[in-house]
Amino acid sequence: MSRSFKQYRLTSLLLIHHVRDNSAHPAIEAAEGLRTRQFSARELVQAFLDRIANVDGTLKTYQTVLSESALNRADAVDQARSRGDEVPPFSGVPIAIKDNMCMRGAPTTCSSKFLENFIPPYDATVVEKLLEAGLIPIGKTNMDEFAMGSSTENSAFVTSANPWNVEMIPGGSSGGSAAAVSARLAPWALGSDTGGSIRQPAALCSVLGMKPTYGRVSRYGLVAFASSLDQIGPMTRTAKDAAALLGIISGLDLRDSTSIDAPVPDYLSELDQGVKGLVLGLPKEYLPEGLDPNMRAMVDDAIKALEPLGVTVREISLPHTPYAIATYYLICTAEASSNLARYDGVVYGHRHNDADSLIEMYMKTRSEGFGQEVKRRIMLGTYVLSAGYYDAYYRRAQRVRNLLKRDFETAFQDVDAVICPATPTPAFKRGEKADDPLQMYLSDVFTAPLNLAGLPGISIPGGFSGDGLPLGLQFIAPALSESLLLRLAHAFQSVTDHHLQAPPC
Ligand code: GLN
Repeated sequence: MSRSFKQYRLTSLLLIHHVRDNSAHPAIEAAEGLRTRQFSARELVQAFLDRIANVDGTLKTYQTVLSESALNRADAVDQARSRGDEVPPFSGVPIAIKDNMCMRGAPTTCSSKFLENFIPPYDATVVEKLLEAGLIPIGKTNMDEFAMGSSTENSAFVTSANPWNVEMIPGGSSGGSAAAVSARLAPWALGSDTGGSIRQPAALCSVLGMKPTYGRVSRYGLVAFASSLDQIGPMTRTAKDAAALLGIISGLDLRDSTSIDAPVPDYLSELDQGVKGLVLGLPKEYLPEGLDPNMRAMVDDAIKALEPLGVTVREISLPHTPYAIATYYLICTAEASSNLARYDGVVYGHRHNDADSLIEMYMKTRSEGFGQEVKRRIMLGTYVLSAGYYDAYYRRAQRVRNLLKRDFETAFQDVDAVICPATPTPAFKRGEKADDPLQMYLSDVFTAPLNLAGLPGISIPGGFSGDGLPLGLQFIAPALSESLLLRLAHAFQSVTDHHLQAPPC
């Protein structure tokens, strides 16, 4: 065997290890492989593009694959490295981005016909931060239209499949990002979470998904759904990768007046502080009678895994939980109806060109551009904000929101964090709830309360159902306690191997 052939074989074996097999911390190990010149950024990006070409025809996780720009960026990183330039530690590592984050020159469709041809002239702050860190956006991922949904079935273009069972939905709205990370079509990804859209698909696809504290990550350049709830966060396979990615995207941004002016901790180094002495609260409202027994068993097993690490668990109550879904769907629709007023055919996005009057142009544009679920939300939101109904619905919902916030504040006087399931059930069948919005809305029952309270939460692979479908374990913590959540996730991953299991595809 010639030397160069041997080298080629070695490189491809390493790449297969990184891309397909179980490298424990895919992004961190990929960065290490690049730094030590085991493979080039071009080879790494190409390996992911090849895998996308092979598998994504079935899974449909990507809305757009950015092959050309990704390879160009990879070449630039490789050249910088061979010149001996100092480059940031994650230079050359690919990342997938949910298709509601603006990236200059790349389509940002929000999986909506309205924005089918929209190419933003600027980068979202998170995209800017990824590029500064040397990461390579490899594609924009499929989602529910304008992030409204729990299955990606509301995408105007295509429904993604769950890599663990392609008959099932991957969750939503960041279903494309979750399925891509799960199926090794990207080492990690960004998602956005308004009522559960990072954590629910992460749970259903067996990856880690974190919704940071409201304001921890800038929303500048994130297409707005419900501005008081939306938050961008990492989707990864391990807590270590999540710690690295959260560190890259967090921080104050003067272009988002709601971003928090608090130092960004070194999440990675804080992971090793362990979890000894932590007290976790198990809310009885999150384990109601009749809950899918798989979820209950997953939480019991998780507690058994954590107790030997020095964690104690006690039952708590978050009494207003039963009102959370109603409150969430009043507030998010109200905000959506206002945010989506900008899609009127005048400045950007779809426009109906054959109208006789301005009003007709607005009406036809909006009727053609939005899908059914988005229209439903706009109508509900307009209703709850309208004179005569505002006090009965919107103002009341804001009051209940405060009660939900207070529930958590009271709980955190006694416990350090909350442990609970991320979703009420494992993944459901494609089509099963598509025509039943109320059933679909119930998917958010364990995730939406913390968006209303502005708190951080994380879902991590917690095991599998009897049918081999992933189950998500959730931790919730006080504001700005991301580090604590990552420590819990890391500790759990150090004594379990659910996160190392790969889907069959
Ligand atoms: N499923 C929820 C909804 O449809 C959450 C969406 C989200 O977090 N973006 O509103």
